[in-house]
Amino acid sequence: MNKLNLYILLIVFSLSSFAKSFADEGMWIPMLLDSVCYERMKQMGCELTTDDIYSINHASIKDAVVLFNRGCTGVMVSNEGLLLTNYHCSESIIQSHNTLEHNYMANGFWAMNKNQELVNPSLFVSFLVRMVDVTNLVLKDIPIQISEIERNALLQSVLERIVIAETKKTPTHRFSIKSLYNGNQYFMYEYEVFTDVRLVGAPPTEIGKFGGETDNWAWPRHTGDFSLFRVYANRNNEPALYSPDNVPYKPKKVLPISIKGVNEGDFTMVYGYPGNTEQFITSAELEFLTKLSLPSKIELRTHRLDIMAKVMEADSIVGTQYAAKFASTSSLWKKWQGEIRGLKRADAISIKKQNEWEFELWANKTDSLKSKYSGLMNSYNRVYSSYKVYNFIADYFGESVMSIEMLNQVGRFVNFSSNTSWNDTAKLRKEVKNYTNVVNSFFRNYYQPLDIKIFSSMLKEYYINVPRQYHPSIFKKLESKYNGDFDRWAAEVYKKSIFCDRVKIMNMMDKYSLSTLKKLQSDPAMEIYLSFSNVINASVIPPFHTLNNKIDSLYRIYTAAQMEMNKGKLLYPEANLTLRITFGKVEGYNAADGINYHWFTTVDGILQKSGTAISDYRLSPKLQAFYEKKDFGRYASHNGTLRVCFIASNHTSGGNSGSPVINGKGELVGLNFDRNWEGTMGDVLYDPKQCRNIALDTRYILYIIDKYAKAQYLLDEMKIIF
Ligand code: ASP
Repeated sequence: MNKLNLYILLIVFSLSSFAKSFADEGMWIPMLLDSVCYERMKQMGCELTTDDIYSINHASIKDAVVLFNRGCTGVMVSNEGLLLTNYHCSESIIQSHNTLEHNYMANGFWAMNKNQELVNPSLFVSFLVRMVDVTNLVLKDIPIQISEIERNALLQSVLERIVIAETKKTPTHRFSIKSLYNGNQYFMYEYEVFTDVRLVGAPPTEIGKFGGETDNWAWPRHTGDFSLFRVYANRNNEPALYSPDNVPYKPKKVLPISIKGVNEGDFTMVYGYPGNTEQFITSAELEFLTKLSLPSKIELRTHRLDIMAKVMEADSIVGTQYAAKFASTSSLWKKWQGEIRGLKRADAISIKKQNEWEFELWANKTDSLKSKYSGLMNSYNRVYSSYKVYNFIADYFGESVMSIEMLNQVGRFVNFSSNTSWNDTAKLRKEVKNYTNVVNSFFRNYYQPLDIKIFSSMLKEYYINVPRQYHPSIFKKLESKYNGDFDRWAAEVYKKSIFCDRVKIMNMMDKYSLSTLKKLQSDPAMEIYLSFSNVINASVIPPFHTLNNKIDSLYRIYTAAQMEMNKGKLLYPEANLTLRITFGKVEGYNAADGINYHWFTTVDGILQKSGTAISDYRLSPKLQAFYEKKDFGRYASHNGTLRVCFIASNHTSGGNSGSPVINGKGELVGLNFDRNWEGTMGDVLYDPKQCRNIALDTRYILYIIDKYAKAQYLLDEMKIIF
């Protein structure tokens, strides 16, 4: 291990020296648009210069793209700070403004002037000022022959030191350093973060989420997934806390909006913040993922979704209370199934095995390579075969036991109690208040009979599917006292635990003291929580962490080896929520034998879907009439209809939601919001034949703002290209 570590730093990296061979795969660092990559973009129809795309000397497209909140992207579309992002990225923000008089989810929200815009205290957007390669600065202080634990600790302090020094120089900016190529490179990112970001417009859910879960991760799509915000700054155009005196931010760069549309084969580029890819995943991990880990998590979610659906159907109030929980449970459930299917269809495990076989041949080619990499795959496979056992249990525990809302509630209390500040009364009072606020909001959308069913089902699955040595001691009580009857056990626990009762929790918090946690040890829910914590903390987490450290270090070496082996090919670093561009072309795909999908959808499709009995396609009479009027005006395409969405072969990931889809001239032609189900495997293995990103056609966005919301003044702010 350490020997291998020793060699890692001896490898000289020069990103620009990796020549390329790629389809449209890749999430490229805008600052390092290598000439071959850029040539390919030009061949495909890009008319921009690399300087138009990224520059720190003058305004470039990067200045129009923001990290929206913590995990989405947005794009600036007016000189008065107007920002476009997805509806699903701001759904909870819109929901937070709902009152008894105003149901913005059902009716939408449109500020008709700046005074009507809604302030959002916890929302922020980050503009990238610059990115800098700090690899040498970071790694020069990390000795080669130290353990991974020591390395991580040292790394942490080196990174902090650099960030603190930079922050001292420019205190108004936020700095962060991220690792690229699995720890082989480090980049520092400097952001300007704006916290006064006001809601300007959002369509009703029946537009913004049209198709709901039925259409999530799916094509053909008709979802009007967009919302509008305005970024405010102080009088010097700098970030400032909310103040009525703030003024609209003047962005360095605004994207013009094209209403000429796109055609099949057109070049498109997606500029944004993809969150996660795992292109260097090994065949062993892929096998574990597709044959054990994901299938078991899918099965657990199937049980939970079935339970939720039944209870929600029987009681419409519970239906509303659990709508968001159902959607978030179902979203990954559906994505994972798509991933398994896509990876199988692409024969991903065989591809990976073939790559590993080629790697072994290469690694044994010369003495120098042998001394660095021979045996690497074996070491990895040995560690991974132990690691996956703990990985499975940790994952299974999270997906089953921790999906029980009441046990989650106990966990929150335990965390709260362990972090309470007893020496500072004022602080303590504040913490208690914060905690009780969390409890109150938990009970607002909580339905105990549903949770009881989930408790019974999830603990039973854990009991059956997890080896006995990882069973909590409380299962003995289940066997002796309840004769293995999970329902009887559940009924008793929920009857007796104070964590199922808001009033009892509040009374306990009124008298909260140093001994409260101790007194609660015999509460039946607390007993279960602690029993699971004991076994997980004693038998799973320690080996999991140790092996995880080994895996990390082997991955770092494996990635470095891949870079060395593929010299001459362009490799992109895994997505990690830093600014990237990806490019491709507008095109349909073959979804399955006999099914070829066209590359765009129209309003006709909305009306066709609304004619079915599927509730996710239901339209209000007002909206139905609006579409039927077909008053598409200047937004119509040649055959008189209006396009809603299109697909293209841009390699995107979670986090790319709200990213601008840009044509070869640098104009906004679409707003990225999702991927096709068959192509969700793109995070692990990008298959140009079946991976597509889904974008909202800008003409549909403008049509809704113009004809539905009648907010013409917003269009007047934008630069629209006819
Ligand atoms: N829907 C994703 C997001 O929210 C985008 C994707 O995964 O393609 O970022």
